[in-house]
Amino acid sequence: MTTDLAVRFEAVQDRIRTAERRFQRPPGAVRLLAVSKTQPVAAIAALAAAGQSAFGENYVQEALDKMAELAALALEWHFIGPLQTNKTRSVAEHFAWVHSVDRLKIAQRLSAQRPSALPPLNVCLQVNLDRETTKHGLDEDAVGAVAAQVAALPRLRLRGLMAIPAPTADFVAQRRAFARLRLRQEQLIAAGLALDTLSMGMSDDLEAAVAEGATVVRVGTALFGPRR
Ligand SMILES: *Cc1c(COP(=O)(O)O)cnc(C)c1O
Repeated sequence: MTTDLAVRFEAVQDRIRTAERRFQRPPGAVRLLAVSKTQPVAAIAALAAAGQSAFGENYVQEALDKMAELAALALEWHFIGPLQTNKTRSVAEHFAWVHSVDRLKIAQRLSAQRPSALPPLNVCLQVNLDRETTKHGLDEDAVGAVAAQVAALPRLRLRGLMAIPAPTADFVAQRRAFARLRLRQEQLIAAGLALDTLSMGMSDDLEAAVAEGATVVRVGTALFGPRR
């Protein structure tokens, strides 16, 4: 592995462990999802050799090409990008997780298309916390009803919620947004859903996400360097 990649991998792991300690999270409570979109397979293979097993991709065809090249490695692939109905079959057949389910129809297709030889597909519902700045994700008001319906689909396992808050450099504002996602999750759990995953936090705001209960942080740039 290049020295740069090794140094960044070490630094990101250190940021996560430091945030766990600082915000009284149990050691190892936060998992690192390495967001490898646009990054070369050599970098993925190098991180895999250093012990990283979970990788996140946004573009279906790019991900399928990488999976084929890296088939010899036991990697866990997470789909985290916007998902169109015409791509659900490839995702249902090749990924272990989808973080970006934002409507019932997508969930129904993923469930119907998940091969019976594979375990249920792990999914998170993407929640839109900033209706003005983005159109991706479920409106907060809709999350409860959709979650109940998704949880009932036979070939999916609803694991929790995901969000990408509007970027801000203000730590307090970062925490406030992530806290809203955590509260939504707590409401769903109180309503009887068995959820264990909060997918939130990226290169620039992972500490705030860890403070508010993230169980998975999705990190690209801080790990791989700038995207091409
Ligand atoms: C690209 C991407 C990331 C990683 O973002 P960085 O700022 O590079 O860490 C995380 N989550 C999603 C959904 C992404 O599309």
